Amino acid sequence: MPFQGARGRKVADRKRRIRAFVRGGVQGVGFRPFVYDLAVRYGLNGYVLNSPDGAELEIEGRAEDVAALLSDLQQGVPFPGFVSSLRTETVPLQHSDGFEIRESREGGTVSAVVLPDIATCPLCIAELLDPNDRRFRYPFINCTHCGPRYTIIEALPYDRPNTSMAGFPMCPECLREYEDPRDRRFHAQPIACPKCGPQVELWNPNGDVLAPAQTAIPAAARVLSEGGILAVKGIGGFHLFVDARNEDAVQRLRSRKRREAKPLAVMVPDLSTASALAEISREEEDLLTGYEAPIVLLKRRPGGLAESVAPDLRDLGLMLPYSPLHHLLMRDCGFPVVATSGNLSDEPICSDETSALDTFRDIADALLVHDRPIVRSIDDSVARVIDRHPVLYRRARGYAPMPTPLPGGNRGFLAVGGHLKNTIALGLGDSAVLFPHVGDLEHPGSRARAAGHVADVQALYREQANTAVCDLHPDYASTASALQLGVPMIGVQHHVAHAAGVLVETESPLPSLAVVFDGTGYGLDRSIWGGEFLRVDEGGFERVGHLRRFPLVGGDAAARDGRRPALGLLSEVPSVAELPAFRAWLETAFRPDRLALLRSAIASGTNVVGTSSAGRLFDAVAALGAGLLHSRYESEAAMRFEALANPRSEGEYRFVLRERDDGFEVDWQPVLEDLAQDLDRRSDPSAISARFHRGLAQSIVAAARRVGLPCVALSGGCFQNRLLVEEACRLLRGVGFEVRLHRRIPPNDGGLAFGQLAAVALGLGQRCA
Ligand code: ZN
Ligand code: ZN
Ligand code: FE
Repeated sequence: MPFQGARGRKVADRKRRIRAFVRGGVQGVGFRPFVYDLAVRYGLNGYVLNSPDGAELEIEGRAEDVAALLSDLQQGVPFPGFVSSLRTETVPLQHSDGFEIRESREGGTVSAVVLPDIATCPLCIAELLDPNDRRFRYPFINCTHCGPRYTIIEALPYDRPNTSMAGFPMCPECLREYEDPRDRRFHAQPIACPKCGPQVELWNPNGDVLAPAQTAIPAAARVLSEGGILAVKGIGGFHLFVDARNEDAVQRLRSRKRREAKPLAVMVPDLSTASALAEISREEEDLLTGYEAPIVLLKRRPGGLAESVAPDLRDLGLMLPYSPLHHLLMRDCGFPVVATSGNLSDEPICSDETSALDTFRDIADALLVHDRPIVRSIDDSVARVIDRHPVLYRRARGYAPMPTPLPGGNRGFLAVGGHLKNTIALGLGDSAVLFPHVGDLEHPGSRARAAGHVADVQALYREQANTAVCDLHPDYASTASALQLGVPMIGVQHHVAHAAGVLVETESPLPSLAVVFDGTGYGLDRSIWGGEFLRVDEGGFERVGHLRRFPLVGGDAAARDGRRPALGLLSEVPSVAELPAFRAWLETAFRPDRLALLRSAIASGTNVVGTSSAGRLFDAVAALGAGLLHSRYESEAAMRFEALANPRSEGEYRFVLRERDDGFEVDWQPVLEDLAQDLDRRSDPSAISARFHRGLAQSIVAAARRVGLPCVALSGGCFQNRLLVEEACRLLRGVGFEVRLHRRIPPNDGGLAFGQLAAVALGLGQRCA
């Protein structure tokens, strides 16, 4: 109805029509219903649709209403969506009626965001458990704000025909919800119900059906309570489940899966079970119950679980159910279960029934399967709260492939990451996508998976890689795969990538000091780096300091054998090696002939590299000071050494900064002298560990003071060590430094691909011939 405005001007005179292009996480999060609601509220007409770029909309109405909608659009996008950019243009009035949600527009370049798989929301859980709901106990319940995304998308835009739900035509009731803008399942692409959606079945290892549909999950729970091993097809692949309280069952799983000692993750029915098993801070609870639902490493309480779940470790990896299927199964069994990824040893996770029957023939007693195809597999993420914030150890389900802002991140640049914990990353112009954890490229299965990711990413984002970014290590499988892309290559030094990654992720001022401590990375002088102090600026970096070098005998074998770096340290400082404590240690650690052999190898430089690795220094001190000689899995000794520490014990070992021609050197020789004294005094390993950690943290502060830049960023696998990080943060902040830590990108090599793109954006890469 026409009416007069305040100044007597006709409202129609002040009408506008705006076309807006929205980019960010706007597909599959209820963005269009959100816009629809706003348009109805403000009385605007027009349309909204999913475009390959994100979303496009036109709104027409009173100018202030149009402005109000655009402002709401940027502030209030429903969880877990976000708007990264909004571009508007004025278009002629069309005097159209009403507001509509239109079909998606296809074609062109795709820069729409693919969202991660999101844990079941509280509203869906309530319906799942409501006997009067038509989806009561339906294991595929989801809505616009929860459910699978990345694992079911075949192509963009994110619409049902482009997902693995395409094979499940909606029943009339689901279709009504899907089409009703007032419904919380409006355009929820994986919408389904017991009548029209996927179903579960319980199989025996031959693939015969033991229990169909509604009876499958209770029957599966019985398999678990009887001590059986259950393979469960979830969101991103199969898990192997077993009663975590049953020592025999857990050991049987370990031996059948050929997994000797690596800690196993545990899924618990609810938060109160989690609290009974581990100490949980508020930040840890937030992480545990967040929509990413990662495995959270928590300080365990005594008892409650079989000893072989996480032998010799103080921490326990716990997670809550994150899909309706897991919720039902955990409710039906009611006790904690080991939930380890369904694979052999270190091979990639298995994600379809056919290969599951093959893989689990001799492992699982039964398989809980379903018929919703998994388009791409993904592992569980692993995180730990450090310095009151989550730090990702493994970035996968729930986090990947959420983009990370990267100013100047070149479009079409594909970074191939490192060798261990491989991931790849793709530049999208103003952001970069770090894809999920692949695994260690030692394994042929992981190499195939990595190659699959490279192909998948280019197809999904319709973005042909135009430049490959790789590590400088000549022998990395990832570097070889970059070569195969047949595009120009840019190399980035390993620790420069770590440094750029943390500085860019945390939007640090430049120049800043990056402290990069990790296991190994190929240095610019062809030695192995890993204890690096880098001054990073736009367009250049300087290695201002490093840990004192020592010889490392035996290449890759040295990463699992702490005796070798220990021997390396001692051979560098012969007077210290003669101290009685170390002479005694050498005699017990090695057979005499073996010791002579290794010593002569070091003397002649045969199969020996020089290294400044902080990771290997950790291994050496763990071996010398706490008898942790071997790692059965990556960084086991360092993790156990950290767990030993008693933070209440006083004192610290002395690192000394020395000026050299090529910057400063952080010398560990006094550390060994202090350690020898402690060993003579028969000090407890808990004190030895605490003193070493504290000394190393103090050396970071000394280096930061020497460099004199206000902001210090920490990256590299050693900064997964909570004790080291928290001590370094406390000391650095205490003297006025600002500390930056990774937040959504792992500090270990799982974050390297993002760091490689970040380094290139900062101009720190080098063109390869
Ligand atoms: Zn939901
Ligand atoms: Zn239905
Ligand atoms: Fe590294």
